[in-house]
Amino acid sequence: MSAPNTIYMDNNATTKAAPEVVEAMLPYFGELYGNPSSMHSFGGQVGRHIESARSKLAELLGADPGEIIFTSCGTESDSTAIWAALRTQPHKKHIVTSRVEHPAVKNLGEYLEKNGYRVTFAPVDRQGNLDLDYLYDHLTDNTAIVSLMWANNESGVIFPIEEVVEKVKERGIVFHTDAVQAVGKVPLDMRSVPVDMLALSGHKLHGPKGVGALYVRKGTKFSPFLIGGHQERGRRGGTENVASIIGLGRAAELAGAFIDDENTRVKRLRDKLEKGLLERVSNAMVNGDPENRLPNTTSVAFEFVEGESILLMMNELGICASSGSACTSGSLEPSHVLRAMGVPFTAAHGSIRFSLSVYNTEEEVDYVIEKLPPVIERLRSMSPFWSDAQCKTA
Ligand code: PLP
Repeated sequence: MSAPNTIYMDNNATTKAAPEVVEAMLPYFGELYGNPSSMHSFGGQVGRHIESARSKLAELLGADPGEIIFTSCGTESDSTAIWAALRTQPHKKHIVTSRVEHPAVKNLGEYLEKNGYRVTFAPVDRQGNLDLDYLYDHLTDNTAIVSLMWANNESGVIFPIEEVVEKVKERGIVFHTDAVQAVGKVPLDMRSVPVDMLALSGHKLHGPKGVGALYVRKGTKFSPFLIGGHQERGRRGGTENVASIIGLGRAAELAGAFIDDENTRVKRLRDKLEKGLLERVSNAMVNGDPENRLPNTTSVAFEFVEGESILLMMNELGICASSGSACTSGSLEPSHVLRAMGVPFTAAHGSIRFSLSVYNTEEEVDYVIEKLPPVIERLRSMSPFWSDAQCKTA
């Protein structure tokens, strides 16, 4: 089988901006360069286009346009939400989150822990599902906010936000969800799920990088993170990233159309990929709940082989995916997500996350199923851990 050019299966890291998104953005780098805050109509027209993008995003979320604040990324949206809850309730010094959050929330939680707050990190089970009883047992009158991701970026496991939010709100506690991985893959409707705040990011839904949004339910106490000009009705200072906001609006429109494909064709491709790999490679398993997952994500653990080596060899074949190791720190520590799930070290080390999108094809999946198993075999033939394991089972 000949190699298709680049096979991109790393869509939870970032997605390709849809051509329609790029096209929508282009005029704002050229003729439509006015400042939306200007009094003249040359700038004012840009402001109206921002409002149109806001309406499109609001529609995707089942929200009111006034409840959307544009930000620079998912991380800023998460930080804004958490700091807003803490600043508006200065007497409350407790935060509840989970052990498997993205660093955007996890590292802020750890920072807060060192700076006068108490933070509860609720555990997950072996399948990556949240320990709900633990979470409920740890809510107190001092809890300022519960912040939980809607879907996990590594395992794809979906948290039961609809259920948790009810219980948390009953206690009068602010609820924020990091929905960066869920938007565009899982239908979300703010009319039926009463979260107070929700973070999303443009580059995870075929929009541009460098733009995100925070949904803030009407009536939620709020305090801006970036204090400055009157932009975003004083809720986020700074001249708007106009082209990217327009791109995010267009991406939101497309997401409404893409979501069906994500949950049918893309899901079938993901399942075919997973099945094909598990059938052809021994000592391989899926990390995370096989049912309760994003339709595009599979994290496959290939035991007794190093994820980084697999990635390098896949790279030679033009296949892009991610490993389950914290490569950002330059070490090969298994990720905090896989550790929290109790994935054995030998499996966590060889975990590869494939995350597909509407741009993937059956031909690409077939290519990976054909090319990857021999790579694992070759790497295992060089691995002392593999020979050890074979001796023990012989
Ligand atoms: N939250 C989750 C679950 C993510 O997957 C990511 C990015 O990978 C982020 C937050 C951060 O988003 P951004 O890169 O836009 O800051």
